[in-house]
Amino acid sequence: MATLRQHALMKLQSRERIEPVAPSLKVSDYFGSLVFGLKEMQEALAPTVFKTVSTAIEKGTKIDMSTAEEVATAVKSWALSKGATHYTHWFQPLTGSTAEKHDTFFDALSNMEKFKGSALVQQEPDASSFPSGGIRTTFEARGYTAWDPSSPIFIYDQTLCIPTIFVSYTGEALDFKTPLIRSSEAINNAAVDICQFFDRNVKKVTPSLGVEQEYFVIDRALYATRPDLVMAGRTVYGHNPARGQQLDDHYFGSIAQRVKQFMKDFEIESWKLGIPVSTRHNEVAPGQYEVAPLFEEINKATDHNLLLMDLMDKVAEKHGLKVLFHEKPFAGLNGSGKHNNWSLITDTGVNLFQPSNSARENLQFLCFLVATIKAVHEYADLLRASIASAGNDFRLGANEAPPAIISVFLGSTLTGILDELEKNGNVKIEKGDNMYMKLGITKIPEIILDNTDRNRTSPFAFTGNKFEFRAVGSSANVAGPMTALNVIVADILKNLKKEIDKEIDAGKEKKIAIVDVLRKYIKESRDIRFEGDGYSEEWEKEAHKRGLSNLKSTPFALDTLVAKKTAELYKRHNVLNETELHARHEIRLENYIMRVQIESRVMGDLALNHIIPTAIQYQNKLIKNANGLKGLGLDHRAAIETIEEVSKHIESLKANVSEMIEARKRINKVEDISEKAKLYSTDVKDAFFEKIRYAVDKLELLVDDEFWPLTKYREMLFLK
Ligand code: ADP
Ligand code: MG
Repeated sequence: MATLRQHALMKLQSRERIEPVAPSLKVSDYFGSLVFGLKEMQEALAPTVFKTVSTAIEKGTKIDMSTAEEVATAVKSWALSKGATHYTHWFQPLTGSTAEKHDTFFDALSNMEKFKGSALVQQEPDASSFPSGGIRTTFEARGYTAWDPSSPIFIYDQTLCIPTIFVSYTGEALDFKTPLIRSSEAINNAAVDICQFFDRNVKKVTPSLGVEQEYFVIDRALYATRPDLVMAGRTVYGHNPARGQQLDDHYFGSIAQRVKQFMKDFEIESWKLGIPVSTRHNEVAPGQYEVAPLFEEINKATDHNLLLMDLMDKVAEKHGLKVLFHEKPFAGLNGSGKHNNWSLITDTGVNLFQPSNSARENLQFLCFLVATIKAVHEYADLLRASIASAGNDFRLGANEAPPAIISVFLGSTLTGILDELEKNGNVKIEKGDNMYMKLGITKIPEIILDNTDRNRTSPFAFTGNKFEFRAVGSSANVAGPMTALNVIVADILKNLKKEIDKEIDAGKEKKIAIVDVLRKYIKESRDIRFEGDGYSEEWEKEAHKRGLSNLKSTPFALDTLVAKKTAELYKRHNVLNETELHARHEIRLENYIMRVQIESRVMGDLALNHIIPTAIQYQNKLIKNANGLKGLGLDHRAAIETIEEVSKHIESLKANVSEMIEARKRINKVEDISEKAKLYSTDVKDAFFEKIRYAVDKLELLVDDEFWPLTKYREMLFLK
């Protein structure tokens, strides 16, 4: 009888390729055709109504009920004309994915399609099915979703999706979006104040974000044969293919055909949804790919990233493929991240991280650059916590991934400029001097936007006109880390402004006051800057000397969320209160525990139900063989040796799995959730995962390929 694995391998041979069909040859003909954006609103709404809505979008003002009625009517007819049958509030609860509850437009009583303003503005999802970290039980409040007009309404799967925030009736955030929006407001306030030193016309600053998304793709039938992938998102067992990442390009160039069709297909669907995707087909590891849309305003970019992931998942199914968003689906190969390209852009169209030929603009640029570096230095632990997850723990610090140590890379040009600025601190600037000239910042050369001045090993790098936060995990909702980044930079910008004002009040000339405070900041945050190889052991040692944190495990990294410093920071900027922070801490710990529990169970089950029986079966065959040889009076030492080796691994597996189960039982009795999560990390994951895996992976090499139940790495990675 063929194994599931063999069935899957046969199925793969007979797969048909699906040709993606675009609505038109030109993308511009259908880009955003499923989005009810500003243009569509303007066309559909009376001018006064449109004015109210567009102001609400721009300024975050409230939309009154009668305006909402008008929008609802307009959006309904637009949606029906596009074939939508249902509508839903689309939101991002703290579970990590998106949630929806579909209602139909059709009203059977009147035999008509209906959509009320109230249904557009507010809904009450079944809040009990989403985590609240104790908020709802303490406050006995229900949760509701509220329309967020700053992210456009769209149609997905014949359903009108209304982007919303999700909060409790007492106002606590129960989702990712609420704090993100609040943090954008915080950084807007702080950044505008700094811009005012240089340009009085700046009234608004918006963070923008471009997310490079890494992922793996494997055949769907093969995926289904791996309970670990299905249950935990990653392979808990599997021996590395012979040549792993070093395989020649041509080897997998041709088999990627089906993946290409899949990419084309999800590009088309993304464009319809107004997601400005520009796919690249670069593979870093076999089976690994990347997609990067053009950057957008941070709120929209966040929604688009989540929508894109969902879309990719659906489209892949059509092509008989499975997308893996896990940070480390395959041991020994590259992990997957989500590079968050982040910058700040003014309503006058200036990117505040763009160095220029104008000296005055460069001083402004330096304010933002230095403030960001200082923020990362001051709040490195918070940034680390913002990217902490069970999945990312396998990636950070493993091969080809940034370490768990947070540092900032600037490149040689900017490093030189900052060093110079710090060093020439005693340069006296007299009245009438050209200060910029004296400080050597008349002109900051445009950083060459190619690979020459890049450091791919840095978790947080300046890349020409933006910062790139690379340590974010591939399955994460970027709102978490982006909220943290916005808040910490806002905080330092606020201080910067205060300190500059103080110097000015004391009689210093404005420019000189700015330079002096910047010098101080550069000095204070020097330790966070690192230009070398972030993957190296020397850096771990050096970072340790510098006193930088190196928190490798999520539950430990999450401690920062409930530290006093964090609570004060988030409170100062009205982003999250202490209750909300504690709730998030708890939810993320719960999530961590659940993930490690699942992996541990999958490991145990696979070992006991699949691996050990297979190994014993093979062992019996070997014993027969040895006996046969012996009967014939032939040398059977080799057979005996293999039998011994197989037995050794079986014994070790059995012993370790039962010890691991005992450890789980013991830890499950622990009441304190943080303590429990930490024990799961040290006494389950660290204590057993590698040991158990080692035995299984050895057995994979020993046991006859024909018996082996789990689809192998080389099959998953190279067959498509
Ligand atoms: P890499 O070289 O790191 O592979 P790319 O340069 O191709 O990446 O693109 C990185 C991402 O950065 C893209 O999504 C791009 O739109 C985005 N990006 C470019 N400029 C900015 C900016 N000013 N702010 C935010 N994101 C930006
Ligand atoms: Mg990048």
